[in-house]
Amino acid sequence: MHKVAEIIAIGSELLTPQRMDTNSLVVTESLNSLGVEVVTKQVVGDDRARLTDAIRTAVQRSDIVVLIGGLGPTEDDVTRDAAAAALGRKLVLSLEQESILIGKFRLINRQMAPNNLRQAYLVEGAEALPNPHGSAPGQFLSTDRGALAMLPGPPRELKPMVADELTPRLRPVIPPQVIKERTFRITGIGESDLDTLIAPVYTKYTNPTTTVLSSPGDLFVSLRAIAETEGRADGLLREVGNAIASLLGNRIYSEDPKETLDQVVGRLLRKNHATVATAESCTGGLIAARLTERGGSSDFFLAGYVAYTDAQKQEMLGVSGKLIEKHSAVSEPVAAAMAEGARGRSGASYALSSTGYAGPSGGTDHDPIGTVYLGIAGPGETRVLRIRYVPERERVRALSTQAALELLRRTLMKVSLSN
Ligand code: ATP
Repeated sequence: MHKVAEIIAIGSELLTPQRMDTNSLVVTESLNSLGVEVVTKQVVGDDRARLTDAIRTAVQRSDIVVLIGGLGPTEDDVTRDAAAAALGRKLVLSLEQESILIGKFRLINRQMAPNNLRQAYLVEGAEALPNPHGSAPGQFLSTDRGALAMLPGPPRELKPMVADELTPRLRPVIPPQVIKERTFRITGIGESDLDTLIAPVYTKYTNPTTTVLSSPGDLFVSLRAIAETEGRADGLLREVGNAIASLLGNRIYSEDPKETLDQVVGRLLRKNHATVATAESCTGGLIAARLTERGGSSDFFLAGYVAYTDAQKQEMLGVSGKLIEKHSAVSEPVAAAMAEGARGRSGASYALSSTGYAGPSGGTDHDPIGTVYLGIAGPGETRVLRIRYVPERERVRALSTQAALELLRRTLMKVSLSN
């Protein structure tokens, strides 16, 4: 069995909307780098009884337990007491810590208030973790399952203590194990459809664990493997990851968790020595903004036309008035004509177009609010997709922008435009 960790952040202020527990992220990062997964994390107020309960449960079910905060000198700093009570051990005054504390106060020429001495008490059997950036030392002790650490709350004290004191002491407690991840980025499919597609594969495995995360128009499938060696972890990711990848096929636009769709499109345009222009109506320039988000986009981006009115679609893009009259501005032929107009006027290899009803008003029986036509004109042909979104203006604009980039990606990859 792999060793697992549990974190308890202590402090009533962390249970208010004003303060967030950020320290546990620092601790999680270093535990993960040791190959240890954090399986439970909780925030407990400055309440001795509740904290004692929480610690007692934690040391029974988790190998590594990390307590954060509540080590200061005041009455509401209950971590030491609660840890001692949960483990059935005494608190013992450390003469060494007492003299370190007195020395720290002498250094700043201040009289030490008696309650500061609380910080010199260690749980029986604990080793003090030096705190060069504050007064309260951390503590580290062995438990039946592994180890328990207590760290100070102020982030500037906690961070160096994690790196310099905690990590080196945990290493010998943890058998060799590594955590490795593999991520697929996908767009153009809904979260539940994606899950229906891949769940039959990933539910067969508990290692790696697979999670599907979604943000508007963007999905992440993340696999996380734990194994004794890097090679084994890679092997697990390969086995399950490849099975998932073959189900997802061309829907995967990147395996780099940090690479966004516009970066992928930029990379493909450069590789193909191709250029792009945009002819936007309902997206109001958002597609152009995405394509020019990163430095060096002048390598491939030539022009962006925002032609919002019917008159400007004619004026800027040369769309025929008759075509608009016959089909309306939100239609397949007009989306095609807009893309062709932008391509012709700019001289770009490809042009993307958008025309639709973002709402809240507009729409027809045939094309209600949320309907968007996205066009792409390229060297070979012009294609148009009709997509219907939930009629919320902001989402329609964001999702159709992402869909337009995906249309370009699929065209450049020469794969099917729809799933
Ligand atoms: P001190 O010796 O300074 O009293 P302490 O160990 O008692 O240290 P706390 O009093 O609990 O720590 O917290 C000190 C400061 O650190 C507070 O400003 C608190 O909001 C912040 N802090 C505590 N825990 C966390 C946390 N988990 N994430 C981010 N900030 C925290």
